[in-house]
Amino acid sequence: SSSIFADIQIAKPIEVFALIADYNKDEFKEKVNLSVGAYRDTDGKPWVLPIVRRVEAQMASDPTLNHEYLPVAGLVDFRKAAIKLLLGEEDSRYGGVQAPGGTGTLRLAAAFTKKFFGCDTVFVSKPTWGNHKGIFSDAGFSNIVEYRYWNAEEKGLDYDGMLEDLRNAPPKSVVILHAVAHNPTGVDPTQDQWEGIAKVCREQDIFVVMDCAYQGFASGNLDTDAWSCRYFKDQGFEFFICQSFSKNFGLYNERVGNLCVVAKDCDAKMKTLSQLELIVRTAWSNPPNHGARIVATVLNSPQAYEQWKNDIHTMSQRILLMRQQLLSKLKAIGCPGTWDHITKQKGMFSYTGLNAQQSDMLLKKYHIYIMKSGRINMCGLTPANIDYVAEAINAVVTES
Ligand code: PLP
Repeated sequence: SSSIFADIQIAKPIEVFALIADYNKDEFKEKVNLSVGAYRDTDGKPWVLPIVRRVEAQMASDPTLNHEYLPVAGLVDFRKAAIKLLLGEEDSRYGGVQAPGGTGTLRLAAAFTKKFFGCDTVFVSKPTWGNHKGIFSDAGFSNIVEYRYWNAEEKGLDYDGMLEDLRNAPPKSVVILHAVAHNPTGVDPTQDQWEGIAKVCREQDIFVVMDCAYQGFASGNLDTDAWSCRYFKDQGFEFFICQSFSKNFGLYNERVGNLCVVAKDCDAKMKTLSQLELIVRTAWSNPPNHGARIVATVLNSPQAYEQWKNDIHTMSQRILLMRQQLLSKLKAIGCPGTWDHITKQKGMFSYTGLNAQQSDMLLKKYHIYIMKSGRINMCGLTPANIDYVAEAINAVVTES
């Protein structure tokens, strides 16, 4: 008899993971991986932050640590310190729930707003991180709406389009806003534009979910990069911030995230946290310890904190350098079109403006692994491969 699973359709591959698998199999010597969403050092290698290595060594020999369950809402020292890092202060109106990565916090935000606010519509930027739509639709949102964001002609923000779309939000809408270093475009609103966005969210009574996965990666400064979150907090919004430590601590596989709740008062916060705990209980019961303990240790030690800031500086400066070099190389070769957006864009990614056909040619002909959207990870570039990449970009732009 045939299998009960026989009629299940093979799922579509997840683009970024499929590209990584193909890249690993590729034997071409000059292959370049610009698709992965993780930091790479000057040699193109994964980088364990020196401060993380140090703290892990201490933890390994600390006899007081054990492998007991954490509380359902996670490690208290971690949640408190994470909120202080993000909002710059502590307050009884703020609370946190630890979750497996930024993804886990988004899933909590989706489940909570569905269950307690009856939300069914979520607005996501066009384009947005590849997982936002799926997270909210799997949590039961039936109406996933894109708001205009990337202006392809100007290679910048379509601010008017964005506001117009948000002004049409139906009641009980959620909006996901990228707090800093927008993925995939690298285009962030200015402070004036953030004020305009906040105004529309207030007028339309849209529930704001800030996705903050790159604090420190845009400017190299943790406070500067938290500006949008602090602005919404100062404006009196009640909202969620989905905080990920995958990138700024290089803790990708440890799954360290914190859902930061900003409420009107302590009572509202307590009620919300208690219900979030119940969602956690049935979803993953309690979160993993290792990464959160590393983050808590660093954030709660002034000396370790300074070292971490140096590590963030190292990562953000390398990305800035690659932006400058790619731009100047493309200009020097005389690559057709304008490329100044490469240095204007912020964070780990650049939305190059290369179209699907050009990206495909980079992949097939030059073994340069790049997303169909033309997004590249700036730290996939190294001094050893940047000339090859610039020449290849010039070739596909000229040929197509
Ligand atoms: N949000 C955005 C915008 C991201 O780019 C990412 C990761 O790439 C995440 C959330 C989730 O990160 P995590 O790996 O912590 O789940």
